[in-house]
Amino acid sequence: MIKLKKNISLKPYNTFGIEVFTDFFIQLDKAEDISTFIKNYDDIPKPIYFIGLGANTLFTKDFSGTVVHINTKGIQKYKETTDSIYLRVQAGEIWDDFIDFCITNNFSGIENLAAIPSTIGAAPIQNIGAYGVEVKDSIEYVKYIDLNNFNTITLNNKECQFSYRNSLFKTPIKNQFLVTEVGFKLSKTLQPILEYGSIKKRLNSLGITNPDIKQIADTIRQIRADKLPDYKILGNAGSFFKNPIIPIDNFNKLKDQFPNIIAYPQNNNTIKIAAAWLIDKAGLASYQIGGAAIHENQALVIINKNQAQAKDIINLCSHIQIKIKLLFNIELLPEVIFV
Ligand SMILES: Cc1cc2nc3c(=O)[nH]c(=O)nc-3n(C[C@H](O)[C@H](O)[C@H](O)COP(=O)(O)OP(=O)(O)OC[C@H]3O[C@@H](n4cnc5c(N)ncnc54)[C@H](O)[C@@H]3O)c2cc1C
Repeated sequence: MIKLKKNISLKPYNTFGIEVFTDFFIQLDKAEDISTFIKNYDDIPKPIYFIGLGANTLFTKDFSGTVVHINTKGIQKYKETTDSIYLRVQAGEIWDDFIDFCITNNFSGIENLAAIPSTIGAAPIQNIGAYGVEVKDSIEYVKYIDLNNFNTITLNNKECQFSYRNSLFKTPIKNQFLVTEVGFKLSKTLQPILEYGSIKKRLNSLGITNPDIKQIADTIRQIRADKLPDYKILGNAGSFFKNPIIPIDNFNKLKDQFPNIIAYPQNNNTIKIAAAWLIDKAGLASYQIGGAAIHENQALVIINKNQAQAKDIINLCSHIQIKIKLLFNIELLPEVIFV
């Protein structure tokens, strides 16, 4: 039997560390809890918001409905070939624990995504990515329950419609599904991707030229720890905004005006601009509204510097968006989900 708790603080369930309350709260720890949840779905107070680690969620106010914490665990092999291993992983597993499991077993493909705070169930939703790798590169399938009819659906990789920080699960079926399990295909031999950021430089400085999976993951964990604030100390949700993708013609005009602009060509006549560069160039480094501030080392990260309320973060977000629009004529869109 699952417990419906009342008037629960969501501070432990969002990495911004914002103190808001939900009218009702349920935690799903095992498969039977999911079955019970579905059986009783019609009686559970709506709206419902599923939460993993809350690392991509900004609760803007108290939640009048039910927050459902997904905490189901389990990693199982379901297939193996000469080169690959296929794993099914439950939605509540912690992403970085899964990385450790893969390191221990020498399964390669996701080591560059080490230290991203996520649950397995949330990872495909925004197609988490870092250091030249996206989770879509290793996903075989996503299994979910359609909350309109309670059917269990399994989508293959293509059907998930993954793109940069996006998937079918963001739109159009947003909020109408509960991801229960994700299937991964990983390589039994290391396929190192070291060309991004300072991975190679840092490995070289340690005298490592032929890194193993653990050395790559550890290096990325160190680089991230140096660059990003620890959300347990300074609340944040990682990159607050997506890097904007604009037509190459618009970029060329901007480049005339701002020759140092940082951008990464895409493969369809568009180019991805480094949003952090735009924010820095707009003179917003360390800018603060109330308790919310732009992080001094990483302009894309908004931090809860001093007991920020959600309104401080929202106001800071709007301030940044207006400045960037006025200066560069670019719309910055939040990566973080406002609830
Ligand atoms: C310090 C820091 C660094 C970060 N770095 C990166 C990075 O490098 N790359 C990157 O891509 N992201 C990064 N992020 C963002 C974040 O890690 C990802 O968005 C992650 O996938 C969020 O996982 P979560 O479990 O916390 O999701 P939550 O915030 O709990 O949920 C996110 C969304 O998924 C939905 N959801 C969650 N679980 C389920 C489920 N089982 N079924 C249905 N819906 C569900 C929620 O309702 C919500 O809409 C970072 C965040 C932080 C705090």
